[in-house]
Amino acid sequence: MVNYETSDREIGACPCGKGKVIASFHTPDNAWSRNYTTYRLACADCNAKFVVEREHIYSSNEYEAIEAASKKSIAATMKVHELAAPYVDAYFERFTDEPKTEQLRQMKLLKVATVNIDKFRKERKWGTAFSKLSRPINNPTWLLSVVTDHAIQKQIADLLDVVGNADAEEEKAKSAMTSIRIAVS
Ligand SMILES: [Zn+2]
Repeated sequence: MVNYETSDREIGACPCGKGKVIASFHTPDNAWSRNYTTYRLACADCNAKFVVEREHIYSSNEYEAIEAASKKSIAATMKVHELAAPYVDAYFERFTDEPKTEQLRQMKLLKVATVNIDKFRKERKWGTAFSKLSRPINNPTWLLSVVTDHAIQKQIADLLDVVGNADAEEEKAKSAMTSIRIAVS
């Protein structure tokens, strides 16, 4: 087991100026473990308004908004890919008699490819579906055009709106977020 010796040092004022930023230096008791530094705010007001992640201080409202929007976007994207998978597979199945380079070229033309040719060959040999080797959401127009079931197409269109809105929320929060880099002198 590695034991760490920790020493704290005030390295500057917190964002409001009434408290301090504290750096904790963690030093291992052996030569093969690495030392590391963590930071925290010694200020009740700032702890209510900011979060510290590695060597950055972020405003917590925006930080949380970004996390929530990102989660929403990922969940809706996964659902889109799940609904679209059979149609994406059916689309690329028509190229199964063509060489793998041509199959991948078709994916690249649509801007939905996610792997290089070596990985593509390997995955296809193992039987990985085309839909697992592509990211159809990169090309929404094409994606909606291959989904022949109208109810599913509508569901996907709605989910694409959710993704678009969540991405916009994330961008908005990012530009409004206070981000202070902690400098150790
Ligand atoms: Zn403060």
